[in-house]
Amino acid sequence: MARYKDAVCRLCRREGMKLFLKGGKCFTDKCPIEKRNFAPGQHGKDRKAKIVGYGLQLREKQKAKRIYFTQEGQFRNYFERAFRTKGVTGEMLLQQLERRLDNVVYRLGFAVARRQARQLVRHGHVAVNGRKVNIPSYQVKTGDEITVREGSQKLAVLEAAKDFASHQAPPVWLEVDRDAYKGRVLALPKREDINLPLNEQLIVELYSK
Ligand code: SF4
Repeated sequence: MARYKDAVCRLCRREGMKLFLKGGKCFTDKCPIEKRNFAPGQHGKDRKAKIVGYGLQLREKQKAKRIYFTQEGQFRNYFERAFRTKGVTGEMLLQQLERRLDNVVYRLGFAVARRQARQLVRHGHVAVNGRKVNIPSYQVKTGDEITVREGSQKLAVLEAAKDFASHQAPPVWLEVDRDAYKGRVLALPKREDINLPLNEQLIVELYSK
């Protein structure tokens, strides 16, 4: 699948806000949003058009895609599935994004950013219910146990992630034992459990046209 390989900080600058894509750097004054909070590119500084209507909906969708590192087709599939699921479509959409295995690995504090979590999964360092799963988009369900595989627990990135995560509690729908690199899904995430600056209703409006 095609993947975004350019500098991720450009994505934050395009959205005009921190999307926290890089881990530790996002919390320092080296974050480009602190220094250059304008759109990337030659004319980024000059373009300050007010965004309304379709533009707002589009930006919200792009923001969500970028936070979770998904591609357009996959994101659209999440929407279609959310639309067919009983419940509020926007919330169902966010729930599916949160249930991605790479996101859960990040939320458990085994990686400093979703991108790093994705790589851990891709490289076969993560197991679900004792079986290796190397698909970042794998949807976890209630009761699933997510672990870093035994042979991978010495990775330096994991130690750094543990330090990074030590000052933050996992979301209420997950429980974690960071020393054992083990976590469990207690329940599916509700909207209030997903602490992200997203207006999912705008995304629903965009795709419902
Ligand atoms: Fe975004 Fe983090 Fe880069 Fe800042 S450091 S622009 S928050 S990815």
